[in-house]
Amino acid sequence: MKDGFGRTIEYLRISVTDACNLRCRYCMPEEGPSGCNCKMNLSADEIVEIASAASRLGMKKLRITGGEPLVRRDIVELTRRLGEIPGVEDMSMTTNGTLLKSLARELYDAGIHRINISLDTLDDEKYRSMTRTGKLADALSGIEAAIEVGMSPVKLNCVLIGGFNSDEVESLARLTQKMPVDVRFIELMPIGDTAHFGADAYLPGSFVTDRLPELVPAEAEGKSVARLYRLPGALGRVGIISPLSNHFCSECNRLRLTADGCIKPCLHSAEEISVRGLHGKALEDAIAEAALHKPKMHVELSATERSKSKRSMNRIGG
Ligand code: SAM
Ligand code: SF4
Repeated sequence: MKDGFGRTIEYLRISVTDACNLRCRYCMPEEGPSGCNCKMNLSADEIVEIASAASRLGMKKLRITGGEPLVRRDIVELTRRLGEIPGVEDMSMTTNGTLLKSLARELYDAGIHRINISLDTLDDEKYRSMTRTGKLADALSGIEAAIEVGMSPVKLNCVLIGGFNSDEVESLARLTQKMPVDVRFIELMPIGDTAHFGADAYLPGSFVTDRLPELVPAEAEGKSVARLYRLPGALGRVGIISPLSNHFCSECNRLRLTADGCIKPCLHSAEEISVRGLHGKALEDAIAEAALHKPKMHVELSATERSKSKRSMNRIGG
């Protein structure tokens, strides 16, 4: 499927719930999901129906995200059903990893062979403070479980935040020398509940390369939104994702399905097209229409220029 600018749209990110067991300060308000009624999350049947329509239009790649996808009781079965959709060639998941230990094997068997796990710090107290509730040990055991069951690549997503983890860039990147993981630094995005971060929190991705002059450019297997590097002798790569300082809109190949049944043509625009309750041709037409509504690029983002999205990130999925 093509969008209005000739880009091939083949990647659907599916947020399967707005709910989460953590409350990360850059993602979600302390009181939990707001502006939505979580009972209104799409059912597994609805998600599979929408993903199947998207696949008929040429979407080959799915990512399951949230909120936290692993808080959904039916996540293993839902994952298996999504992976069985004809035309789906690649399926992966983004998770905070804290509930992964006991689910990793079942998820692998259900078709999750690649996974992204969020990890912003290696310090217990800082982890608890940024997630407001989480335990670092739970995330680390989730990462170990993913490696142990054979998921590959395991990518660790780290939101780069000045004054929080800017002093840990080296230790986080060095995980790639100790474990078979990629570590990807993501610029903090001014979206949702992030107004409390001061200008110093918004570091450019180049902060990472400045800190680690020994990084050498590395190849991506396919399309990648990350600029990739490698430390000497490392098992995995270091990635830099720069939605603020170097956006990748000209390469954008994605649509997003929210947990309440809207397609977002662009992460940073307010536009949404509800597909809930649509079936067959009407559903396909609405998805194709959403692709045509993708803007050429998103608005400029910075400490002072905020995303136009009306949702916080837990209600989009990243
Ligand atoms: N709960 C899962 C997790 O944390 O990985 C999946 C959903 S979370 C919304 C998806 C990704 O969005 C995470 O890697 C998270 O770090 C990232 N994220 C959330 N808010 C962000 C922000 N304001 N700027 C940059 N990344 C953000
Ligand atoms: Fe939950 Fe993920 Fe958002 Fe953190 S980033 S609050 S783990 S949805």
